[in-house]
Amino acid sequence: MGTGCAGLTAALYTARANLNPLVLTGTMPGGLLTTTSVVENFPGFPEGIDGFELMTRMQKQAERFGARISHGSTVDSVDLSKRPLTLMVDGEPLETEALIVASGASHRHLGIESETLLERKGVTYCATCDGPFPMFRNRPLVVVGGGDSACEEASFLTRFGSVVYLIHRRDSLRASRIMAERTLSNPKIKPIWDSVVTEIMDTKLDKVTGVRVKNVKTGGETTLDCAGVFVAIGHVPNTTVFRGVLEMDENGFLLTKHGTETNVPGVFVAGDCSDHVYRQAITAAGTGCAAAIDAERYLAKLNS
Ligand code: NAP
Repeated sequence: MGTGCAGLTAALYTARANLNPLVLTGTMPGGLLTTTSVVENFPGFPEGIDGFELMTRMQKQAERFGARISHGSTVDSVDLSKRPLTLMVDGEPLETEALIVASGASHRHLGIESETLLERKGVTYCATCDGPFPMFRNRPLVVVGGGDSACEEASFLTRFGSVVYLIHRRDSLRASRIMAERTLSNPKIKPIWDSVVTEIMDTKLDKVTGVRVKNVKTGGETTLDCAGVFVAIGHVPNTTVFRGVLEMDENGFLLTKHGTETNVPGVFVAGDCSDHVYRQAITAAGTGCAAAIDAERYLAKLNS
């Protein structure tokens, strides 16, 4: 399940082990990395590589060894209580001896009503995807968040916006040092510290015209004019379908034991759906490899 770095690496390894894997892409083939710009920290690419291209290459590599990619296939429900394991995929039952869950994570939302009402009307979760739209050209833009994603989005958006406000709820960035330094030294990026977005305007006009910002230390509120709000405040794991079936923590991250095993024999986990610590392309790929090896050993034991 999943075609991010974890899923496609698991597909590559299980295909090379002649396990004939079927790979369900879900609604976001290639995963979140397809929405990023240049990936500079995946080993083997000294000049960096475009996220979409990296995922395309991973898929080709898995397919070369026989992985079957099922495009757009979404798992609606699961029955992991008996063998073979059964997944309902787009309304059809699918049986499997082993399952590797690499369903990744989705963008976290601010959770305010105006955010929902103005989604795709100026509120977005992907600068690489939406930043070049004409509506954002030469206009003030807002990025919310203080991690690597927010910094990356803010830097990317300086190509289009007149100014990029980086609104962060604390007074220092969570981002890696190199990203933080790059961001804060960019003259087009204006950080707004200790602040949260309380409202996005203007729901009456049905488009983004500005944000109301509250300083969490002073309680003071201000408004900023902007044409776009790019929310980059982290991710939530895509594990809803496994609630009550696979053990997970209070935030929905799947729990593993002995490497990539879960509480259900034959079900293994890889990547961001179980990782709230590292969350890197390379660590996802690494756990995808580990899950494939664990699944291979499980199946060999089952058959012997
Ligand atoms: P992240 O590191 O979890 O950062 C999320 C940011 O959003 C934090 O600054 C957090 O504030 C803030 N935040 C969380 N919930 C919020 C809320 N409800 N309201 C306002 N702000 C909120 O997430 P990320 O930036 O998406 O990065 C995820 C992982 O991917 C990280 O491991 C990162 O290193 C990696 N990544 C790497 C690259 C790269 O190397 N090129 C690029 C992108 C992402 P606090 O700081 O106060 O918690």
